[in-house]
Amino acid sequence: MTHSGVPLLDVVRSNAPLRDEILCAMAEILDSGRFIGGDAVKNFEVAFAQYCQTKHAIGCASGSDALLLALMALEIGPGDEVIVPSFTFFATASAVWRLGAVPVFADIDPVTFNLNPASVQACITKQTKAIIPVHLFGQCCDMESIVNLANDASLYVIEDAAQAIGATYRKRPAGSMAHIGCFSFYPTKNLGGLGDGGICTTNDDEIQEKLRLMANHGMKPRYTHTKVGVNSRLDAIQAVALGIKLRHVTNWSNERLENAQRYHNLFRHFNLTDKVEMPATDPECGHVWNQYTIRVRDRETRDYLRREMTERGIGTEVYYPIPLHLQQCFATLGYQTGSLPNTERAAAQVLSLPIFPGLTNAEQVQVVQSVDDAIGNRFKIRAA
Ligand SMILES: *Cc1c(COP(=O)(O)O)cnc(C)c1O
Repeated sequence: MTHSGVPLLDVVRSNAPLRDEILCAMAEILDSGRFIGGDAVKNFEVAFAQYCQTKHAIGCASGSDALLLALMALEIGPGDEVIVPSFTFFATASAVWRLGAVPVFADIDPVTFNLNPASVQACITKQTKAIIPVHLFGQCCDMESIVNLANDASLYVIEDAAQAIGATYRKRPAGSMAHIGCFSFYPTKNLGGLGDGGICTTNDDEIQEKLRLMANHGMKPRYTHTKVGVNSRLDAIQAVALGIKLRHVTNWSNERLENAQRYHNLFRHFNLTDKVEMPATDPECGHVWNQYTIRVRDRETRDYLRREMTERGIGTEVYYPIPLHLQQCFATLGYQTGSLPNTERAAAQVLSLPIFPGLTNAEQVQVVQSVDDAIGNRFKIRAA
């Protein structure tokens, strides 16, 4: 058996078969001289909206900007509170903070890692304006409960679907279930660009107008500014590459799902289920497996396992090691260790393993073999 290692992610593997097609489309953009907007961006927006079963899609410069623009379009600002998970990527909360609003951190469900509706409910105050459920690791939140809570309190809902293109909740696609959906084309996402990019989805004509306005300096008509917006665009050159890749996303998601099922079987085969908690799928959800995230007994075990994996050439990552409510930049919000126990436990115990499309069976065996080598004989999390 060779031990050449396994990368956490190999984007070259999925891009390589599309190389000529992408280069050809990019050459067309180069030759056209039309780098901003134009048909390239329009066509991609139409295709993306169709994929998400929404009326509109509005390209922008990144997933972080998509969140910022969503909040701006809904006129969220100073004095407003927005409920977000703490167990997520920083951008979910920083977008709220940057507009002068207050991110209010809710705890997660320990099984799905997604927002716990009961915790969300406990966070609602008179100042609450919106909830941002994050479909973490490629699995949708309990949208029925969250949308019901929002409707009862007249709140906006913004889906952070950065990790969840093509994921479904009760057959409905991520990004189609709320006022606005936000997506990222950062290269590690299931639809990764050749650089940064993002998009917002919505079914609401008025919100679409506002998103476009805010992404274009609040300018309409030219040199007339009714709002103070930003400059946030999806480049034509990204749009054509993404348009080509979009046609493969469903296949890639299916491959990710197969890889997840194979890990499940391997962990059972290696008798590791008393040391490793495998990620669970909510029966209401179609999971697209942006990450395959296991849990082990505690932080020491996790850090030890990660070091051992690194030594064997296996790429892993901790998404996310420090919950947002305990980040130094949010210290003035006054959260203490212990305020979100499920979030804090997850941050200590999680480790994400390679799951990208194109990962081979042999590589997955190598990954699980390495977990077994490292913690197979100790660090039980529960009785077998
Ligand atoms: C990646 C990500 C973002 C930000 O996207 P960028 O394109 O990197 O700005 C926001 N939220 C979540 C949950 C993400 O995973």
